[in-house]
Amino acid sequence: MVKVDIKYTKLFINNEWVDSVSKKTFPTINPQDESIITQVAEGDKADVDLAVEAAKKAFHRYSEWRTLDASQRGRLLYKLADLMERDAKYLGELETLDCGKPVKQAEGEVVWAASVIRFYAGKADKILGNTIPADGEVISMTMKEPVGICGQILPWNYPIPMFVWKIGPALAAGCTVVVKPAEQTPLTALAVAALVKEAGFPPGVVNVIPGYGPTAGAALTHHPDVDKIAFTGSTEIGRIIMQVASAVNLKRVTLELGGKSPLVIFNDADVDMAADLAHRAAFANAGQCCVAATRTYVQSGIYDKFVAKAAEIAKKRTVGNPFEDVQQGAQIDDEMFNKVMGYIQSGKKEGAKCVAGGARHGTVGYFVQPTVFADVKDNMKIAREEIFGPVQSILKFENFDEVVDRANDSNYGLGAGVVTNDVTTALAFIKHARAGSVWVNTYEHVTPQTPFGGFRESGIGREMGEDGIQQYLENKTVTFKLPKKPQL
Ligand code: ADP
Repeated sequence: MVKVDIKYTKLFINNEWVDSVSKKTFPTINPQDESIITQVAEGDKADVDLAVEAAKKAFHRYSEWRTLDASQRGRLLYKLADLMERDAKYLGELETLDCGKPVKQAEGEVVWAASVIRFYAGKADKILGNTIPADGEVISMTMKEPVGICGQILPWNYPIPMFVWKIGPALAAGCTVVVKPAEQTPLTALAVAALVKEAGFPPGVVNVIPGYGPTAGAALTHHPDVDKIAFTGSTEIGRIIMQVASAVNLKRVTLELGGKSPLVIFNDADVDMAADLAHRAAFANAGQCCVAATRTYVQSGIYDKFVAKAAEIAKKRTVGNPFEDVQQGAQIDDEMFNKVMGYIQSGKKEGAKCVAGGARHGTVGYFVQPTVFADVKDNMKIAREEIFGPVQSILKFENFDEVVDRANDSNYGLGAGVVTNDVTTALAFIKHARAGSVWVNTYEHVTPQTPFGGFRESGIGREMGEDGIQQYLENKTVTFKLPKKPQL
């Protein structure tokens, strides 16, 4: 086992490390061996109140943060990105310890996250309003202003990328934030918070409160001084957050929720390439990915060949100690492990054909064999519900219209992919797929420049790209009355 130094386990409020008011702590678990890594300060309403107070003070109109030039906000963000890259190896190892994902992948995610911060660093002084030729003797314009104090609630699947998707655009826009990382993965958010301080952000601009959803998370959504909640997690909790936010003070809400994304492979595709792409689209991050392509639709002409290849690739997938050179580590916790195993049982029971995996990997830790089901029918649970595990469902189709109807027949609408060499088929698919991201001959190609988010129950709003920063800005319309003729 690699020894990882854990430096930060307290709450981060006002650039200080503090115990929770209650002095309570909670354990964070190593998914690889189910051991307790360490105890972390457990934030609750009282701590959220303190953090929001700090964020409110930092947002005051004469504060150091609010009076900083926009370009200087950008410089602080560039500094943060540099520090993250400096510590990429350490942050990656810490992430692997807490999250169970392969260490090379985790380190790569840190470097990628730094590129997101850099994108928003560059945006900070390019936030533009409009001048408007309004009716009347007036000059009218719009000014973009920060939304204010933002509560940001994170999931556990990509802890560092999710942390920067949230804080990057918020800070570039000039907001202040209180972040609640997922209770399963509090460690890296705290480690990056230390870099926020080192980069020179003023106290109170970024605050991090580890804790549980119904306590710390709910305290943020209920807080009357929080102007906006940005949430990534399950559709179930997203619904609750939206209800609470609207009831308390009509907070702005952006939600990045679940998915059951289809990847559609036509007869003209190269089977080896398509099977490899579909494998990565389904199994990335051990399937713990909101946009995972968990419904693989394959046209009948290549179906049998595809299923054989998909099974072959899945069987070769290396699973195990995430500190070694493996493709797949552990699932996040016992709850998710049991949920995934339950879906595998349900697939077998409902008559899908298990052509790879289908069982636990090993006896210790939350490891699941890469599992492939063929002959899946649209009404099976494994084809309808989000599994969030290494399970690929392969479904057969005959023609374009049939598969588009079936691909769109979901409450979700996060991603959709198509594999074909026929440009008109690809364009028609792009036009008719009801999803926030559509990929052609690739999948999950997510960049800092491109907006990401979902249709329907996959969410509200977009993160990243220009859209991502707009979600942290209010539009102020200014109308200046002009006299007919100046007096002086
Ligand atoms: P998952 O099911 O993948 O664990 P959740 O949607 O339950 O995802 O959790 C995502 C994030 O939302 C976590 O940080 C969690 O603590 C938080 N959360 C859970 N319940 C609530 C709630 N009632 N209010 C606010 N945040 C919550």
